[in-house]
Amino acid sequence: MLEIPKAYEPGRIEENWYNFWLEQGYLTPKIDPDKKPFVIVMPPPNVTGELHLGHALTATLEDIMVRWHRMRGEPTLWLPGTDHAGIATQVVVEQQLAKQGQTKSEIGRENFTKLTWEWADKRREDIRLQHRLLGASCDWTREKFTLDEGPSKAVRIAFVRLYNKGLIYRGERMINWCPRCQTALSDLEVEHKDIVTHLYYIRYPLTENEGFVTVATTRPETFLGDTAVAVNPEDERYKNFIGSCVTLPIINRDIPIIADDAVDTSFGTGALKITPAHDPTDFEVAQRHNLPLVNTMNPDATMNENAGPYQGMERFACRDKVLADLKDKKLLEKIEPYFHSVGHCSRCQMMIEPRVSLQWFVQTEPLAKAAIEAVKEGRITIIPERFTKIYFDWMENIRDWCISRQLWWGHRIPVWYCQGCGKLTASVDEPAACTHCGSKQIIQDSDVLDTWFSSALWTHSTLGWPEDTDEFRYFYPGSVMETGYDILFFWVARMIMMGLEDTGEIPFHTVYLHGLIRDESGEKMSKLRGNVINPAEAISKYGVDALRFALTTGTSPGNDINLGQGKLESSRNFVNKLWNAARFILQSMDAETLKAQPIELQPQRIEDQWIDSQLNRLIKNVTGLMEEFQFGEAGQQIYDFVWSKFCDWYIEIAKIRLRPHPNLSSHEEGFGEVSPLPLLVNTLEKSLRLLHPFMPFVTEELWQSLKVRLLGSASNDNMRMPDSIMIAPYPLADDKAFAPEAERVMDSVIEIVRSIRNVRAQYKVGPTRWIEAQVYADELLPSLILEANIIETLAKVRPLTILGRQQRKPDEDKALVLVLKEAEVVVPLAGMVDRLAEEQRLMKESGEVNARIAQLDARLKDSAFLSKAPAQVIEKEKQKLAMLEDKLKRLLQELSQLSSSSADM
Ligand SMILES: [Zn+2]
Ligand SMILES: [Zn+2]
Repeated sequence: MLEIPKAYEPGRIEENWYNFWLEQGYLTPKIDPDKKPFVIVMPPPNVTGELHLGHALTATLEDIMVRWHRMRGEPTLWLPGTDHAGIATQVVVEQQLAKQGQTKSEIGRENFTKLTWEWADKRREDIRLQHRLLGASCDWTREKFTLDEGPSKAVRIAFVRLYNKGLIYRGERMINWCPRCQTALSDLEVEHKDIVTHLYYIRYPLTENEGFVTVATTRPETFLGDTAVAVNPEDERYKNFIGSCVTLPIINRDIPIIADDAVDTSFGTGALKITPAHDPTDFEVAQRHNLPLVNTMNPDATMNENAGPYQGMERFACRDKVLADLKDKKLLEKIEPYFHSVGHCSRCQMMIEPRVSLQWFVQTEPLAKAAIEAVKEGRITIIPERFTKIYFDWMENIRDWCISRQLWWGHRIPVWYCQGCGKLTASVDEPAACTHCGSKQIIQDSDVLDTWFSSALWTHSTLGWPEDTDEFRYFYPGSVMETGYDILFFWVARMIMMGLEDTGEIPFHTVYLHGLIRDESGEKMSKLRGNVINPAEAISKYGVDALRFALTTGTSPGNDINLGQGKLESSRNFVNKLWNAARFILQSMDAETLKAQPIELQPQRIEDQWIDSQLNRLIKNVTGLMEEFQFGEAGQQIYDFVWSKFCDWYIEIAKIRLRPHPNLSSHEEGFGEVSPLPLLVNTLEKSLRLLHPFMPFVTEELWQSLKVRLLGSASNDNMRMPDSIMIAPYPLADDKAFAPEAERVMDSVIEIVRSIRNVRAQYKVGPTRWIEAQVYADELLPSLILEANIIETLAKVRPLTILGRQQRKPDEDKALVLVLKEAEVVVPLAGMVDRLAEEQRLMKESGEVNARIAQLDARLKDSAFLSKAPAQVIEKEKQKLAMLEDKLKRLLQELSQLSSSSADM
């Protein structure tokens, strides 16, 4: 028989089992029209991303669902893939070029794209390996990349369809602009940082009269693009100015003073400069009042020809010069410090510039309507439910989506401009000529699409849409979309919109949102704080199974997860506990093959019925919890059962029964004759299957060792076991196994043993020492007598007397009486304590405590100390004194108990 190593070494087995699963083809589902498939499309990690705990959590949660459904016999598809991650990737490759002293324009678009492909291919290989390391049982034969031919074609088709429907348009709008990356950014790509700047009060001279209107601004350099000053129509200070003009200093341009309800009278002076080309709010004001747009900046945030004397200056240099010039003209009234939040490019940290520019947009309102309906009608469920409201809030206030990016890495916009007639042609395939005039002089739009555009199609583009493939028909719509709650809007909502728009069907039935991972004290993990846990390091230190278990147990959907070394250690301890328990059972099987034979269970003894009942209750609970997506609680319940009921109680009891018993007590029936092995094996085997979705590696290793032994025993010829635990059925609860009476007895046995153990601990009775005890019971008396051997050994009591309550002798003042739920335990003190030694110990300890009390007491009466020490130090000393006085009281009590019990010895 195979030797079971003493300690579990995760690294030794993980890779082997993963390769085994892969070679057996378990990860690739077969299309079976008679069965409903279970489908998860993996949120594609960015090719730029290092494997962090968030990925590990995503992979683990999805793998738990996928393995569970696979074990339930459903054709299960978990489709993996990666995202090209537009700007994020382009910036990384640009930085690498910069290290070699090159820029992307020097090497050209074609070479740059080639270079980026090479880099992305390498990173995709890393991501694949990282997922294998985590045990992710996804179908690598169906792996996709957003830039693959299939998904790319889906992108072009989706674009052209929306364009033809009038839902994609090109227009001048205010967008977030990064002057360094020189591209539009989505809101997600903008990081808001709180910074301290200044609020500048600038005087604008009235055009027709003496005097000024003073405006307050954080960006004085943008005054060159002002096209109005706005005041609130209710503001008494400015009522008379409405309709007149001010003249912009230095450039001497006249602009009107207008009234707008949106102006906040409490900000600055209550008069706002309106710069429509450089501020999103001002842009909206300008639209309401038909104000012209004056753009004063180039794409790289230097000033352009509209900036008059400042043309060519960088924006911040321009600010300094503008301020100096205004000061010279005595038009700078005052400067105040100001604290506010400013957007920065999340890729390069450059301060973003709101900018009006010509971009492509999706008109999202009609798409959002359908997506809201799908959730309202319950066709899509969001877990946890509280995010449904957030989803509705977002979708009801949705703005048009800017989808063009001035980048080279991504899906090129499928639009061609005609040099002849000036019209444009949108086409899935490259057109030979302009569809309007037939001119061959056409040029493709140089921009690419927002990376989220292809992500929004991910659920159907990965299955072959728009082709009517078998896979698309069978696996779409998916079952669950599992991701972090932070991208509910950016990604999940857009998948729902585009899924419905493209296919007419919802893309998935359930959205499961997980929380963010924080450190053990609930702080955000960051390199700066130094509290980041690297998953690769955690895996090599604790093993994959421990990491997976730590990430998922005791958590609930949508809530943030606290993870530290402590939780990882306790998960590793659990893996070791399971390993040791299994090792004991496997070795017992090797020693007693014959007794292990009756695999058909007929639990005879009470504890056998009890463990089987508890196991089946666990199976029932876990199944219910998994169905409700409560994976954290399911894992926790399996943990509690295996650790406590199975390992700490049943296995300890089984060890007693498996030992040779030369002189069994007279009240033993069948003890030592009925082998606990069948129950040990059965409980272990089912526990392994229950745990498999959470801890795939250690469970497969142990299950295989168990299988070898089960098949090896002669009478189990007919037994059929699958080749892997991964395709073994998930356990089903057998209600017939529920045994309330056995549970009642065992609850009482456990309570009796625990209470005696507590007394032993309290009186510091050495572990090898036997003490005497009597148990008195009513209804449970016959059953407790049957368990006498167990109570005796586990509580280390001898002699143990178990009697009816009416036989109880009235001598309890010399003994401890423990009143339990169904029994009373009497422990004579005399037998328990070595009286003299105990008396000496108590005397010595109370003497020491007494001396410390005197010391503290003196200090707290010392006026020098009281006058010098800080209040909290004095308070601490007082608390210490109270604690010591308490302790002394307890010691004296124990002493008096001891002398009363020894009185008649
Ligand atoms: Zn940037
Ligand atoms: Zn044309």
